[in-house]
Amino acid sequence: MNNQKIAVIGAGIIGLCTAFELQKKGMEVTLFDGQGIGQGASFGNAGHFATEQVFPLADPALLPKLPAMLFDPLGPFKLKLSYLPKALPWFCRFLSAMRASERLKNTAAIRALNDHAITRWQQLLRQINSEHLMTKKGSLLVYDNNANNTNEKQLNADYAHYRSQGIALEKLSAAQVLVKEPSLGNNVLGALYFTDVAHTSSPKLLCDSIFQAFTAFGGQFVNSNVDEIKSETNPITVTCEKQHYQFDKIVVCAGAHAKKLAAQLGHHVPLESERGYHLMLPVTHTLQRPVASSDRKFIMTPMQDGLRLAGTVEFAGNDNAPDYRRSDMLLTHAKALLPSLADINLEDLTQQARWMGLRPSLPDSLPIIDVSKHNKSVYFNFGHQHLGLTWGAISATLLTQLLRGMTSDVPLHAYRIDRF
Ligand SMILES: Cc1cc2nc3c(=O)[nH]c(=O)nc-3n(C[C@H](O)[C@H](O)[C@H](O)COP(=O)(O)OP(=O)(O)OC[C@H]3O[C@@H](n4cnc5c(N)ncnc54)[C@H](O)[C@@H]3O)c2cc1C
Repeated sequence: MNNQKIAVIGAGIIGLCTAFELQKKGMEVTLFDGQGIGQGASFGNAGHFATEQVFPLADPALLPKLPAMLFDPLGPFKLKLSYLPKALPWFCRFLSAMRASERLKNTAAIRALNDHAITRWQQLLRQINSEHLMTKKGSLLVYDNNANNTNEKQLNADYAHYRSQGIALEKLSAAQVLVKEPSLGNNVLGALYFTDVAHTSSPKLLCDSIFQAFTAFGGQFVNSNVDEIKSETNPITVTCEKQHYQFDKIVVCAGAHAKKLAAQLGHHVPLESERGYHLMLPVTHTLQRPVASSDRKFIMTPMQDGLRLAGTVEFAGNDNAPDYRRSDMLLTHAKALLPSLADINLEDLTQQARWMGLRPSLPDSLPIIDVSKHNKSVYFNFGHQHLGLTWGAISATLLTQLLRGMTSDVPLHAYRIDRF
């Protein structure tokens, strides 16, 4: 197994963790990415190791709200009308994943990854001397003070729902919330405090730090996109920019772009991009931990270079131009929760403050961590939806165990490529 030559395609958080893990086990790893290191969804995410998020996105409670939400240009979920025919097969499967039996099964499979996620990250960060890149102060899910007080009910129902899954959390009154986060204003009715979750102050620095350790261990990087994979040959031939490279095994970690590569390898997967946005505000020391809003469907995370507002879901494919109004609308929501932001204006923010990234999502909210059914030298690790940062270290461990023919820490049946 040692000295095997492995190609890892994609240098987002999943490819980086996978390449590092394989390298550590003595394999000769080459990482490919034409965009550079940590430039995809892994660049601008909310930095939340969100192990409390155990429920699949396909939730029947969405159904009555979905049509209005999808076509509201500035709602939390948006579907670009011209993209509807392409997205339809994904949505049909998404609806089917709302069945109670499916949700139960998928919740268990999400939990299985979440249960190992933070411990595995802590081990990885120790190995690269970067423990400072994870802060474990929990996170808050806050509820607005709303006129008809329905949020009290919602907060209690959500508390019970999370408790039913064994998630570590506390229910906080408005006063208790202000003790934890004094910058939050009077618009907050109360919060759920998830005590065992963590955040990073820089998702990009995290990527760079893993890359540095990978190259220090002898890992190679090719700054080009893979155009073609010839897997019927042994060794496998990977072609980029007319250069040919040969490997014993390959691992596809290309995030939202993995669909095309998987199809080349004979696997047709219903992968869609849930496009998300962020807006960076030049303010520090506002919050201690990630604060998400139940009503406003966004999150605010304190980062080393400011406060990151992140969220929203847009179905518009990989290639359509970003609609940065979706970044901008996050400021209105943040101002409703943090009075100290009152003086910040959109006009004062640079274009670099706005960002869009592609969450690679399968309709059942589970990733693919598997070996190809057509070729035992081809592996896949993609489709980590809203939880790719959270699952970076654990999915790399599982993929490495699979590739080395070992029993994996988590049974992999739920994440197989041919489940659709
Ligand atoms: C707004 C937003 C907020 C988020 N917040 C969180 C959060 O708080 N917590 C969390 O856990 N997750 C979060 N996520 C999700 C998380 O960012 C993603 O799940 C994760 O980054 C996916 O990682 P990846 O490596 O699979 O994909 P990416 O980071 O997109 O990397 C894929 C890489 O593959 C490369 N690639 C594509 N095709 C090829 C090819 N042919 N050859 C070579 N390379 C190729 C691309 O250039 C890219 O660099 C968020 C996402 C968004 C958009």
